[in-house]
Amino acid sequence: MSRCPTISDGAFDHHQSPDNRRPANFLTNERSLILYGNFIAHDFAHSWNGQYRRPVGLVTANYQAPVDTSGLWVNEGLTNYLSDVLAVRSGIWTRQQFLDQFAETAAKFDHRPGKMWRDLQDTATMAPTLWSVDGSTAYDSWRLGGFDFYGEGELIWLEVDAIIRNKSGDKESLDDFLALFFGEGGNTGPKVVSFTFEELAKALNGIVPNDWAAFFAQRLHELTPSAPRGGITGSGYRVVYRDAPSAWTALKGDKDFAYSIGMDVRPDGAISDVHIGSSAQTAGFAPPSIPRRMADPTIP
Ligand SMILES: [Zn+2]
Repeated sequence: MSRCPTISDGAFDHHQSPDNRRPANFLTNERSLILYGNFIAHDFAHSWNGQYRRPVGLVTANYQAPVDTSGLWVNEGLTNYLSDVLAVRSGIWTRQQFLDQFAETAAKFDHRPGKMWRDLQDTATMAPTLWSVDGSTAYDSWRLGGFDFYGEGELIWLEVDAIIRNKSGDKESLDDFLALFFGEGGNTGPKVVSFTFEELAKALNGIVPNDWAAFFAQRLHELTPSAPRGGITGSGYRVVYRDAPSAWTALKGDKDFAYSIGMDVRPDGAISDVHIGSSAQTAGFAPPSIPRRMADPTIP
């Protein structure tokens, strides 16, 4: 069992069942179902990625032993990608909702000034510390509060899929890697099989030869304000900014100033973050210290 912060304090991952403590109506309320319906798929995927196959640093003998969370970009990044793919394939989302959600993620990580000093690996490795001290959304885009490996990890796993498809001439895809890596144990009761970074790269090489270790090392350690877009462009798409919010963004209710003047504003009008170096900051805007729990109405 492990805590899954994607669904905040309201969920624990199990081998064979999710423990989801969201509001009872979150699957019957139309807006909640669209915005959070992928959480069901998320915990379903965790049964394999996170519970059955687990980065070796996250396997400890007991709850007192400290964990090495450096592999969370697989544990949560790949699970985030799978949860969104499963959400659209199962009909929880429409194709357009899937695309809008992905565009939103790409736009977010194209506007993360903190990526210039903190690499993606560090957000995973330092996650327990960041989670324990990070009680505010203020300047989150500069500090990177320990959740970036979810969304940015998702973009990287889309890129892995695109590389496999392009290098194999569409004969192979990430599905083949998943079947190999998570299906090799057969149908058994719950058990944990750990893996190392090297074993992960080796398994991907079994699908399509590539210098996967170098690819991941670059993505995990590069300091750039841009989102990893190889998966989007490699799949034949591009991210487009328009002057009107997408249906997805409109449904969320956030004011979309992050991609223009550099300011995040909650639906109720309160500033939750101001981007360092943005025109909003230059004009003198600053975020109050809003506890993350209050800033995110999805946290029960
Ligand atoms: Zn998770």
